[in-house]
Amino acid sequence: RLETVRGFAKGASIEGIKDIVAVASGKGGVGKSTTAVNLAVALAKSCKLRVGLLDADIYGPSIPTMMKVSGKPEVNEDLKMIPIRSHGVDCMSIGFLVGKDAPIVWRGPMVMSALEKLTRGVSWGELDILVVDMPPGTGDAQLSISQRLQLSGALIVSTPQDVALVDARRGANMFRKVEVPILGLIENMSCFKCPSCGEKSYIFGSGGARKTADEMDMEFLGEIPLEMEIGSCSDEGSPVVISAPDSIVSKAYCDVANKV
Ligand code: ADP
Repeated sequence: RLETVRGFAKGASIEGIKDIVAVASGKGGVGKSTTAVNLAVALAKSCKLRVGLLDADIYGPSIPTMMKVSGKPEVNEDLKMIPIRSHGVDCMSIGFLVGKDAPIVWRGPMVMSALEKLTRGVSWGELDILVVDMPPGTGDAQLSISQRLQLSGALIVSTPQDVALVDARRGANMFRKVEVPILGLIENMSCFKCPSCGEKSYIFGSGGARKTADEMDMEFLGEIPLEMEIGSCSDEGSPVVISAPDSIVSKAYCDVANKV
């Protein structure tokens, strides 16, 4: 998809980076960061691309835990921060710059300046794709990122629940307003397969995300089931695409990566 949409958005590009892709959600807790991480690793591992991962979820950075990266990034001679590499992906997160349990109680201008540092103050080198884990919702920070960076496209993550899909629509409409192409909708936590009897339960409903994608004229990129392994691998800092490469969920992430 990126081949066809690249260059439409208005913001400024980052030197050396071919495509910047935002992973967004209307609501928090729907699996946006988990999707961003597994997608980034799948793009590096299965699509053999040079990939960066930017944790722009300024108030709740998850990338340090999910990618098992910590410490302060080194700075080069141009005073640019050098991303920290993990699982084949170059990572940068606001979490590297503040204490692990420190609350980030910043007002708008500080958030903007932090985001500027995390994007243009970083020595990204040559990348095929920079995956941006966006903050949830459609506030100031989200709008600024979408306007200041030339995003090649945005991916929207939602659970099948109506309450999440309503916000996913808002998120999609925000990108449309600022003329960022939407690459598609990913349904996370689509169903749960009982490990004992194998029966599938559609805990958050079924079919809603596909219908929303159709109604909003977005591509439906795939379903990621609710799977204990996804959560435990994230907590251990070893994304499921790495820990269980032959699992169904891993294949689902690689499928999405290939479509992008
Ligand atoms: P968000 O970035 O939208 O706030 P996260 O990616 O942090 O959401 O996910 C919220 C929680 O749900 C995390 O504990 C994560 O491990 C878990 N999670 C996300 N997707 C799945 C899934 N498909 N199956 C099981 N757990 C998941």
